[in-house]
This record gives sequence, structure tokens and C-alpha cells, in this order.
Amino acid sequence: MTLRATLQARLAERRERGLYRQLKTLEAAPSPTAVVDGRSMVAFSSNDYLGLACHPQVIAAQQEGARLGAGATASHLVNGHLQIHEALQEEIAAATGREAALVFSSGYAANMGTICALIGRGDSIVSDKLNHASLIDGARLSRAESLRFAHSDTAALARQLQRARNTGGNTLVAVDGVYSMDGDCAPLAEIAGLCREHDAWLMVDEAHGFGLMGSEKLPVAGSAAAMGLTGEDAPILMGTLGKAAGNAGAFVAGSRELIDYLVQFARTYIYTTGMPPAVASGALAALQVMQREPERQQRLRNNIDRFRRGAAERGLPLGDSTSPIQPLLLGCDQTVMRVAAELATQGFLVGAIRPPTVPVGTARLRITLSAAHDPAQITALLAALDSALEDAGALSTGSSEVRP
Ligand SMILES: *Cc1c(COP(=O)(O)O)cnc(C)c1O
Repeated sequence: MTLRATLQARLAERRERGLYRQLKTLEAAPSPTAVVDGRSMVAFSSNDYLGLACHPQVIAAQQEGARLGAGATASHLVNGHLQIHEALQEEIAAATGREAALVFSSGYAANMGTICALIGRGDSIVSDKLNHASLIDGARLSRAESLRFAHSDTAALARQLQRARNTGGNTLVAVDGVYSMDGDCAPLAEIAGLCREHDAWLMVDEAHGFGLMGSEKLPVAGSAAAMGLTGEDAPILMGTLGKAAGNAGAFVAGSRELIDYLVQFARTYIYTTGMPPAVASGALAALQVMQREPERQQRLRNNIDRFRRGAAERGLPLGDSTSPIQPLLLGCDQTVMRVAAELATQGFLVGAIRPPTVPVGTARLRITLSAAHDPAQITALLAALDSALEDAGALSTGSSEVRP
């Protein structure tokens, strides 16, 4: 078949299954208001949980950083490693309570590169079934024996760890700290205990934990710190700089040896152009703001509570999440699309998440909250959800009884 015919056939099949994805073009990043096709909307879909992407000091820091060069001009190991990257890495190491950190150009690259550097043929990788695509792809590319366990099922994890032990070699356990499409937290204390018992190495992806939660001493370090895990318990900590930090890129934090090792062996670090200095500078400023202004975390928590209270009063099918990621499970792909379209008509942008991003039959609205939302916007979203869900017939099972 010709290339054109092949592409057309596959696109047609996607459309027929109702899974065709379309880009929305915004005039600027949501703050959380955004202009889409000339219309002003409130976004409940971005990962800018602390409102740092549009923070004047963060933007000013990016502009300042751009004076160091629009690009890094080479990979980090050639001549693309600047003082601003060092400063950012030191700030990340301090904020996560680890000896050192290494920046990558994206979370995707950080996960792929780290997993493939640490394990290979003859080793095992044990992953939660709902792990982010970048962890799954890293597992595949590593050529290690890939073992999966049912979501957050620690008994199933224990069985897979036993199997991995029988395989021989080293074992890496990789989990999201906060799951990107469900918003629930991994049972990290139990997972770390099992890893200790089975001599497995634990890697935690803090894409949705970093900046938002932590311990008293490390308030922005993420979910592992929030659950009392130390650097011994979770020796490989990955986080992103494009979510709560509002910029782009990612990091791995850990021991000095781990970071030295990744510089030598992580191919997605070595064979790619260094992070643009503007991004490093913006991310550094964002880390400083998030630590200096803990009230942002508090505002976010208040907004999450407000949304969950309102959704519970309405009997909406909320997931079990206390994070800013609040999934409304509707199940049917078409229903999710209809409700999202109706919300858009009413001026709200929410994520409509379908397979293959989530398992078949679990299509959902992925509503995300930010410290930047004001309470009135959340109240308005809840009201819009009422009518959008009713119009789409989304809550067919007794929604009228639970609604006030
Ligand atoms: C977004 C995300 C990534 C990828 O990070 P990018 O910097 O966007 O490439 C990795 N893991 C999880 C859990 C994520 O949500």
C-alpha cells in the first residue's frame, strides 16, 4: 500500500471508533483563562497546578535566561552545560533532599533514559499497570523482563518481585507517585518495604507530586517525601518541570553516584541538545517561588476541597483522589466527548481522556485544579457540569435522585 493510502485507512479507522484526536489552538498558556478560537474560556485541563506558568517573576526569569543564549547550542557533555543548569540542579537537589540532580529536556526523556541506563537484558522491571507511557516505553526499550501488577495492588507486586528474583539479575520497580489520569497516590510506604525485602530498586515518577506535596522539612519534594520515604527508600526520584513548575523539562534526583552514572549512560541525556538556558532560568525561579510561597499549595488544596465537596453533593462519579487531578469516570468514549463539547460551549476547557490513554471502558473527564482558579470559577464549573451531564444523558443511573 502507498503511504497515503495507509495513513488514510488508519485515520479513517480512528474516526470510526470515535477516537480521533483534535488539537485546540490557544492564544496563550491558560492563566487559567485562555482564548480558544476567539472565545474566552476557563481551563480546568492544564498541569500548571500552582499558577507558575504565567507568574511574572517566572516569565521575567526566562527572559533574563534568554540573554545567555536562545539555545544551549550542543548537548550537555559537549558545550551545552551552563552555570544556570548547575544552579537549577543544586536547587532541585536541595528541594528534594537528595545529594544531586540532573536535568533532562522532558519527563519522557528522563524516564526512558534512566530506565534504559539502569537495567537491561537479564534484569527485571516491575511496573504498575497504570504507569505513565514514558515509564512503559522505557521498560520496553530496556529489554529487561517486563512484569506488571494490577494498579496499586501490593500483593500482586510482591508476587512479581518473587518472579523477578527467580529470573536473577537486578530488579527496578517503577511507579507514578501520583497517577496522571486518576490522581490517586501510590501506596509508597508498602511499595518501598517490598523493594527493601526483595532488594529491588525503587523509581518514583513525581510528575504530579513535585511542588504540590512533601514533608515538613521538604515541603515541595513530592509524594515520596509526603509518605515519609527517604533517599534510601526511593533512591531514584524523577520529577518534571513542565507541570507544577510551569516551565518545561524534567529531572532525576538521587545520590551523587546515580547522577554521575546517568551522565555516563543515559542516552536521552547524552544524545540531545542541552536544556535552553531560558527554561533553566525560568524553572529555577519557579522552584524559588513555590518554596517561598507555601500559600499556593494551600490555595490549591482549598480549591480541590471546594470542587470535591460540590461534586459529591451532586453525586458525580468522582475518583478517589485528593490531588489536583480529579477524574469524572463516564466510561463511554462518545459520552465523554459530548460532555466535554457541552462544557466548551459553556466556556470550560476540560480534558476528555479516552483509550488508549486510559483502559477501554474508563473514558473520563480529567478535571485539573490550580491555585490560580478562583472559587467562583469552580462554582461555575460545577453548575456547567450539572447541565452538561444531564444533556448528554451521562448519569443515567439515578442521577435525578441524587441531584438536589
Ligand atoms: C507528563 C508526565 C511525564 C512526561 O513529562 P514531560 O516533561 O511532559 O515529557 C512523565 N510521567 C508522568 C507521570 C507524567 O504525567
